[in-house]
Amino acid sequence: MINIVLFGKPGAGKGTQAEFLKEKYNLTHISTGDIFRYNIKNETPLGIEAKSYINRGDLVPDEVTIKMLQDEVERHTDTNGFLFDGFPRTLAQADALDAFLASKDWEVTATIALEADDEVLVQRLLERGKTSGRADDQDVEKIRNRYQEYNEKTAPLIEYYHKQNKFFPVNGIGSISEITERLSGVIANL
Ligand code: ADP
Repeated sequence: MINIVLFGKPGAGKGTQAEFLKEKYNLTHISTGDIFRYNIKNETPLGIEAKSYINRGDLVPDEVTIKMLQDEVERHTDTNGFLFDGFPRTLAQADALDAFLASKDWEVTATIALEADDEVLVQRLLERGKTSGRADDQDVEKIRNRYQEYNEKTAPLIEYYHKQNKFFPVNGIGSISEITERLSGVIANL
């Protein structure tokens, strides 16, 4: 069982790389952003609750997100391992994930971070916003707010996983296949 947390700022390429890694290592990919968007599209109670936060560029409250993540893991317990994409994003979520995995005798194997400069990332998001239809990608103010949320709430996770010797940064600038190779290099050495 390997459980990978794919870490990075908005626009770092987590979703793109997850598509390759899940095939290559036969992992169950859980993207909290995708689950929220699916629920928003289908106007479920969860989607209705999450929508206002997401469209402002705020994080969805921990309680809601943690419960959703746990439900999703429970649906796929017969797996080789998980690829967590967009979770955890706060210390409370990281603690909850550790405790939840431990209750099943599992653990986070590694957190792999895709690194890139903010300016490059903001441009990527604006470009994506032209075609993705995502409200949170179309407005510079909302994008800035997502970076502020990242800096305040998500960045402390670097230290959290570093202390556990589970933090592996990777250069997130380059072609998609180059970056997949870098990520695979880390996974091969785990
Ligand atoms: P990004 O491109 O910003 O990495 P995602 O698709 O992963 O986007 O997430 C989109 C939005 O969904 C986030 O800005 C946030 O509002 C919400 N979201 C996703 N994952 C989480 C989480 N773990 N905790 C709280 N909110 C989340």
